[in-house]
Amino acid sequence: MNFYGKELNVYKANLHTHSTTSDGFFTPQQIVRIYEEGGYDCLCLTDHKNTNAVSELKSKNMTLLSGIELHPVGPRNIPWHLLCINVPYGFPGEFACGQEAVDAVNAAGGIVFVAHPYWCGFTSAEVMSLQNTAGMEVYNTSTRYIGKEFNMTIWDEVLDHGRMCNALAVDDVHQLHDLFRGWTMICAEDKKPESLVSALRNGEYYATMGPEIYSLEYKDGVFRAKFSAVESAILMSNKCYGNCGTVPDAHYLGEGNRPVSELVCNAKEWFPAGSYARLQLRSADGRYAWSNPFMV
Ligand SMILES: [Zn+2]
Ligand SMILES: [Zn+2]
Repeated sequence: MNFYGKELNVYKANLHTHSTTSDGFFTPQQIVRIYEEGGYDCLCLTDHKNTNAVSELKSKNMTLLSGIELHPVGPRNIPWHLLCINVPYGFPGEFACGQEAVDAVNAAGGIVFVAHPYWCGFTSAEVMSLQNTAGMEVYNTSTRYIGKEFNMTIWDEVLDHGRMCNALAVDDVHQLHDLFRGWTMICAEDKKPESLVSALRNGEYYATMGPEIYSLEYKDGVFRAKFSAVESAILMSNKCYGNCGTVPDAHYLGEGNRPVSELVCNAKEWFPAGSYARLQLRSADGRYAWSNPFMV
């Protein structure tokens, strides 16, 4: 895909995965096979407080990343759920506080995302109390059982405070019914572990439940995107700002318009300088895709 002027391959990844190493239903080898057969290019195993020896797992062509989900105590004594990607096998599972955990993961060459903050009950201010995280989950399949799978409001509040924050979509798979509903498309030159981890660190990816993004561009103040047909395509920004583009049929659901597959927006004209902007797509069957934000 064209990722802001770079021609990159796109790799389908599930980055939040549980197995029998913690409270998942499938063994590590079973869950690897399930995602491989599901057409994924990358899987990160992230059991609660425990790593897996991913080098001992068999996979034909899927890149396996070592990860862990950490639960140090957070604000109001609510445990954090920290999704930690690219930590070595045997990485410790216990930390006194959230910041200590984030710092240790970063020092070990890993990356931290705040997992499902809405489900945890965290406010955006509490999410922002952690420094040096790479982002958060905007969508988490397993938390849909109580209707808290979307984290768009918290994400936008963080961005509105001027904190750049990228976002993943993940299954957080524990059981069969968590499979294949939200994933991250990593944009990279190849799928070597170091290439995928570096793209995740740099925000070179998008999150989706189905819609595909083919091209993202931001040049001379004008944002352009191409994607699979959806019913709603909005360049989201601070407060009440948001723009559904200059393509004539780019409108919201219910206005009787045709599906859209392109959005053009003169962001410099629409949004005050210093605003953030991020593309949000929604298909006719209610599945979203989200680009990472950029500063106008
Ligand atoms: Zn969790
Ligand atoms: Zn989890």
